Amino acid sequence: MIPVNEPRLSGKELEYVNECLQTGWISSEGRFIEAFERGWADYCGMPHAVAVCNGTTALELAVACLDLQPGDEVILPTFTIISCALAVLYNGLTPVLVDSDPRTWCMNVSQLEAKITPRTRAIMPVHIYGHPVDMDPVIDLAARYHLTIIEDAAEAHGAEYKHHRCGSLGDLSCFSFYANKIVTTGEGGMILTHEAAQAERLRSLRNLCFRKERRFFHTDLGHNYRLTNLQAALGLAQLEGIDAAVDQKRWLGAAYTRRLGAFEGLQLPVEETWARNVYWMYGLVLDEGLGIDAVEFARRMAGRGIMTRPFFLGMHEQPVLHERGLFNNEHYPVAERLARQGLYLPSGLTLSEAQLTEVCESVEAEWRLLTR
Ligand SMILES: *Cc1c(COP(=O)(O)O)cnc(C)c1O
Repeated sequence: MIPVNEPRLSGKELEYVNECLQTGWISSEGRFIEAFERGWADYCGMPHAVAVCNGTTALELAVACLDLQPGDEVILPTFTIISCALAVLYNGLTPVLVDSDPRTWCMNVSQLEAKITPRTRAIMPVHIYGHPVDMDPVIDLAARYHLTIIEDAAEAHGAEYKHHRCGSLGDLSCFSFYANKIVTTGEGGMILTHEAAQAERLRSLRNLCFRKERRFFHTDLGHNYRLTNLQAALGLAQLEGIDAAVDQKRWLGAAYTRRLGAFEGLQLPVEETWARNVYWMYGLVLDEGLGIDAVEFARRMAGRGIMTRPFFLGMHEQPVLHERGLFNNEHYPVAERLARQGLYLPSGLTLSEAQLTEVCESVEAEWRLLTR
């Protein structure tokens, strides 16, 4: 089977992890944590970085440090991972959804303003599968309505919007370094912010809200969301290879597009003129006219030894959120079509050219059977 993704650990990962083991710095203190935070902040062009144990907790803390009130609203795309909605719900706030742009699959920013109410406090744009959100309209609305922007750049390491790195476009930005992300620490996350005071508050929240002047004395409820030095060691080694990783992803995206572009009824990822897409995952949306959905197409690809992954199911279609009285009878037609007709192809950094050819030949063979 050709896997959907496989981490590439070909730099100094072993050397750095070994250093942790040999020096005994295996917990959440040690030189790699600060080096990884500093390196990631510099790479993204942001002043402050706070590493946490995964991307979901990064989002949760980014929302938490805004100190919002129950009933306050955060706008996010329906087409995303549940982590975004959880970050809002765990803070006792109300998520409000928007549909996707049919070309980029990111949040449709032209539908944002209609969702703003007197309770709206923040917008959470999510760069989907490596393509940035069209940020200028988001930034403009945020300024006009005094809203905070929390960017979810988990899928967009190294991507750019108008020559600015994703992760530097909002007030705060969040990253995941899960094993399938472009830079990985196995499990891990990071929050970037412009504000020193916010960074300080985030550091406190991730570390049980211990107080500097008196350790076991608490005036706030925190969490243990710390990243370990071992994970940060991986992260630093990975960060040293990020340019090569992004180049490899862009090569892969271009190669897929060149080979699959001619098959009618297959919608491929785009790269808008203002965007630098990093093709975190190379998606495919099957036209309904082909008479097949993504589940069946995935089954047939698996039969040919190719693993694929279905697209996100929108937040407005999640039973667990319906049970909580959220999004009942809401409809977002683009996200619904993406969920049914979309899947992504093997997109890992270890994918060889021969494997890529095999994937493309399998897609073509199935496409020919469908269009015969
Ligand atoms: C992976 C991902 C997350 C969650 O990160 P974890 O590290 O798995 O908790 C959040 N948002 C997006 C867009 C992601 O792709």
